[in-house]
Amino acid sequence: MSVGLSIRDGNKIYRSKRGSVVALSGVDLDVGQNEFCAIVGPSGCGKTTLLNAIAGFESLSSGTISLDGKVIGGADWSARADASRIVVFQNGALFPWRTVLWNVTCGPVQQGKLSVKEASSQAIDLLNRVGLRGIENKYPDELSGGQQRRVEIVRALLNDPKILLLDEPFRAMDALTKSVMQEYLSDLLFKLPKTVFFITHDLDEAIFLADRVCVFSSRPGRIKQSVKVDIPKPRTHEVLTSPEFLRIKAALNDALHEEAVQAFKLGELELAR
Ligand code: ADP
Ligand code: MG
Repeated sequence: MSVGLSIRDGNKIYRSKRGSVVALSGVDLDVGQNEFCAIVGPSGCGKTTLLNAIAGFESLSSGTISLDGKVIGGADWSARADASRIVVFQNGALFPWRTVLWNVTCGPVQQGKLSVKEASSQAIDLLNRVGLRGIENKYPDELSGGQQRRVEIVRALLNDPKILLLDEPFRAMDALTKSVMQEYLSDLLFKLPKTVFFITHDLDEAIFLADRVCVFSSRPGRIKQSVKVDIPKPRTHEVLTSPEFLRIKAALNDALHEEAVQAFKLGELELAR
């Protein structure tokens, strides 16, 4: 039985009155159990489309997606999200009228997986670990964007999904906030390993966090290059200037730039139509 995430020949065509858009073409991807896979690629190349298909928000036009050996998506799939796959978006999704502690613990408590006491104690432990000591009784709008995102990641992990899906969760943040967020995420996943599918257009972020970085081609998206990152974890910001990091970055940079140029040209052609 294959474990982790497996995508075979994933294709997606969006059809509308204005014509059709081939978003994904022949995507093959294997992410091992507890492996962190980062997808990096230019804007509009199909990253979110792929994440939505894994999450069960949308079906593929053809192809298969399985998780821990069980088919969870693909063509003709009546897409249905469930608790085995949790998504953290770039724009948060906390209940504003509930406290942080309620937001974080409601899933496992309502599903009867943990008692309120157990869930609260685990939640507070994880919140402390990501630098959020003493915020459990606050409300989401009392927190900064970076704090909210950490709360969402803790909430996702407390739900214990089979896979965690993150769609550019730190995109709107400044570079310094981002680097601290990345350290927290690396540390959290070192404590609680998970299969992770992480989308970004930031190559440094991808290498810093991942066990494997896949460069996506410009549309139609497919995996152009895949490189393993064997830097010990948890990682801290010093890694960003290490020889190993720079070696991996050099190996991926050209491929990514080429796709960015391609995506840019494609955008210009579309605008000219
Ligand atoms: P990314 O996340 O890499 O920026 P997306 O997956 O959001 O890219 O989009 C890939 C392509 O598919 C883009 O050209 C986008 O305009 C198109 N697209 C995305 N969603 C839809 C949709 N619901 N209908 C039609 N086209 C779409
Ligand atoms: Mg996107």
